[in-house]
Amino acid sequence: MKNQKVLIIGAGVGGLAAAALLAKNGFDVEVIERNTEVGGRARVWKTEGFVFDMGPSWYLMPEIFENFFAQFEKSVADYYELIRLDPNYRIFFGADDVVDISADLEPNLKTFDSFEEKGGEKLQKYLDKAEETYTFMMEGVMYEDLSSIWSMFSPKLIKAGQKLHILSNIDKWVRKFFKSDRARKILEYPIVFLGGNPTNTPALYSIISHIDYNLGVWYPRGGLGMIPEGIMKLAESYGAVFQFEVDATHIDVKNRQAHHVQTSEGVTDADIVIVNADYPFSEMELLDKKYQTYSAKYWEKKIIAPSAFVLYLGVDQKLPQLTHHNCFLEYDWVKHFNQIFDQPAWPDEPAYYVCCPSRYDSSVAPKGKENIFVTVPISPGIEDTPQIREKYFTKIITHMEESIGESFQDSITVKRIFALNDFANDYHAYKGTAVGLTHTFRQSAFFRPRHKSKKVKNLYYTGQYTHPGIGVPMALVSSQIVADQIAKENSS
Ligand SMILES: Cc1cc2nc3c(=O)[nH]c(=O)nc-3n(C[C@H](O)[C@H](O)[C@H](O)COP(=O)(O)OP(=O)(O)OC[C@H]3O[C@@H](n4cnc5c(N)ncnc54)[C@H](O)[C@@H]3O)c2cc1C
Repeated sequence: MKNQKVLIIGAGVGGLAAAALLAKNGFDVEVIERNTEVGGRARVWKTEGFVFDMGPSWYLMPEIFENFFAQFEKSVADYYELIRLDPNYRIFFGADDVVDISADLEPNLKTFDSFEEKGGEKLQKYLDKAEETYTFMMEGVMYEDLSSIWSMFSPKLIKAGQKLHILSNIDKWVRKFFKSDRARKILEYPIVFLGGNPTNTPALYSIISHIDYNLGVWYPRGGLGMIPEGIMKLAESYGAVFQFEVDATHIDVKNRQAHHVQTSEGVTDADIVIVNADYPFSEMELLDKKYQTYSAKYWEKKIIAPSAFVLYLGVDQKLPQLTHHNCFLEYDWVKHFNQIFDQPAWPDEPAYYVCCPSRYDSSVAPKGKENIFVTVPISPGIEDTPQIREKYFTKIITHMEESIGESFQDSITVKRIFALNDFANDYHAYKGTAVGLTHTFRQSAFFRPRHKSKKVKNLYYTGQYTHPGIGVPMALVSSQIVADQIAKENSS
């Protein structure tokens, strides 16, 4: 492994984790990133005393972060302080119709009792099942390299298939337990924000409720941007080198071996190339056709995860009506899903999410002000113009003001809109998707794009497009799988 040069394209969480793991293993690691900041989708925008997380705001699956840092004999606490949120989140079903999901289970059982008969009992049963599924996933499937068709027939996965209701979708699964619209919306909403549609996302993602209700909702003080910052420091401590504002433009291949990467700054040599940049862009734009594992047709047939209409707002007043995580779920969301997946259009009656991290973290906004992050899932590939954005901004903020019973439009001093065109320009995102490929059954596990190229011997892929999929913890696991594979192939 000594003197083997690994070049990583992209400093998203996937690229960072791969850099740390391989640098620790003795590889000579260089990371190139086209943007000025570290973190990719999880990067941070700082302005006028506000610290905005540009993408992720939910700290999911704490165990995966601990597992990651433990390999370096470190713990999460060496890089950031986790705060437990209470309430976990607040749901606005309309003006004066607000439900809190508590950090304690007991009040939540009562809340579900108010939705339907024996709602609490049903919630307990649903969560017991979700916990069983979670344990099963963590003990086996999650960290498995599922790149071979045979991996789908392993006894472990067959057992998992039966046990985890892989062939059922989460909407059907939730309906088995609950009748009320409210219970269903609350239990299914996280799927939406991880790029899926509950009617075609496998029921195994009910694990998200175990994560929310049983493991607690946590937040790193300073914001989720503390995660990429921490992993970069870790990688640097093992010698990895980072270059920002360097755009990879072509991977040169000879005899099925990648040997150079052309960049905006010149040519860089590599013994091994790992791509963390968006998979479709990298295959179609960085490689000659004969070296592409997946053609343009392959990507056209895929169900692409939603893009997002994102607002970063600095507000010159406090908004105590909000808690840290808030979901606005007033409308019938079947129509919203249709407008994302079936008849693409800007949603007329959207379900959306608002994060207000300054509620409990004074480090992310100046005193007396609020840091607000709004995200509305929208269809990839739809028209995105300044006029549409402004109209949509007014629509969302007006609805939010009505729901919380307070106007704040005149107090907005910082405003940035990030949508389809920005995802495409900043991350080279296919059709402006926010998070890549949805998690349908046919786009999960073995069916997700491979970690290793079929056509180029020393070319690997990590991040949200690969197994296990979308989300910050998943990107960590993806890199774990890639790093283990590279270490195995290069051990001598
Ligand atoms: C709005 C939003 C909200 C989200 N909410 C959550 C959440 O609450 N919790 C959660 O866990 N996850 C959430 N996610 C998902 C999560 O952020 C992603 O799944 C994860 O960060 C993806 O990491 P990655 O390493 O796969 O890719 P990326 O973060 O996209 O990293 C890829 C990197 O490659 C770079 N790159 C691209 N092309 C080139 C090139 N040619 N040369 C050099 N560099 C290049 C890009 O600039 C980027 O930095 C959210 C995502 C978004 C967008």
